[in-house]
Amino acid sequence: MSSSEAIEVLLTWLLKRKGGRVCYANSHTMVTAAKNPALVEALEKSDFLFPDGSGVLWGSALCGKPLVHNLNGTDLVPVLCKNGAPKGLSLYLLGAKPGVAEEAAANLAKAYPGLVITGTQHGYFSPAETPQVLDKIRAARPHLLLIAMGVPLQEIWINQYANELPGITCMGVGGLFDFIAKRVPRAPRPIRAIGMEWVWRLAMEPSRMWQRYLIGNFVFLRLLLIYAFVSSNQDEQTI
Ligand code: UDP
Repeated sequence: MSSSEAIEVLLTWLLKRKGGRVCYANSHTMVTAAKNPALVEALEKSDFLFPDGSGVLWGSALCGKPLVHNLNGTDLVPVLCKNGAPKGLSLYLLGAKPGVAEEAAANLAKAYPGLVITGTQHGYFSPAETPQVLDKIRAARPHLLLIAMGVPLQEIWINQYANELPGITCMGVGGLFDFIAKRVPRAPRPIRAIGMEWVWRLAMEPSRMWQRYLIGNFVFLRLLLIYAFVSSNQDEQTI
């Protein structure tokens, strides 16, 4: 799907209250999934799995199954809000450090008049508090629950609890609230356009990101090469 197709399909889905799960796959997700079966299961059960970032686009081409559009949530969610606001789209923001979801909610409400924010909750609650968090979300009944708790926590949370939130679509959005609340600056557009946003994120948060990008990118490349080699061998055997 192109980004405009994805937004149209998603908006129709949300407003019809179809519920379900939306996840994103970037190279970090793939590397994490390679050693985390619970994440694989969560991704496989999603209703929409969107490609996120230049790594997966480039990798999909290397494996002979090219994806064309980068449908990352950081770009897609604001347009979804813009198009959904006149139609009464409602959101609930779950995740990030205390105070961040509230700031993100205020910025979204200001930017997109008509958008309904039904509630916020930080992402550092204990497992014992989960039933109360679920009760609050069910009572707020948003069309879309944005979950910003990072990979793989958010995907596994969605897989575990989406069935308990009927009519509410769950979407894992990683660091989105930190960007919208302006706690972490987003890469300038020219850097994003050449697929180098990861270099920017590494420069912004080196102590948290070095392992993800400096080691993770090599692991991702190794996984791709193994996949490409195995599938080309299978093709030869078929011939
Ligand atoms: N986070 C959270 N609960 C946790 C761990 C992390 O809410 O137990 C939040 C964290 O504060 C941050 C987000 O999850 O806002 C993860 O951001 P990151 O930039 O790592 O996301 P990604 O790059 O995976 O999209």
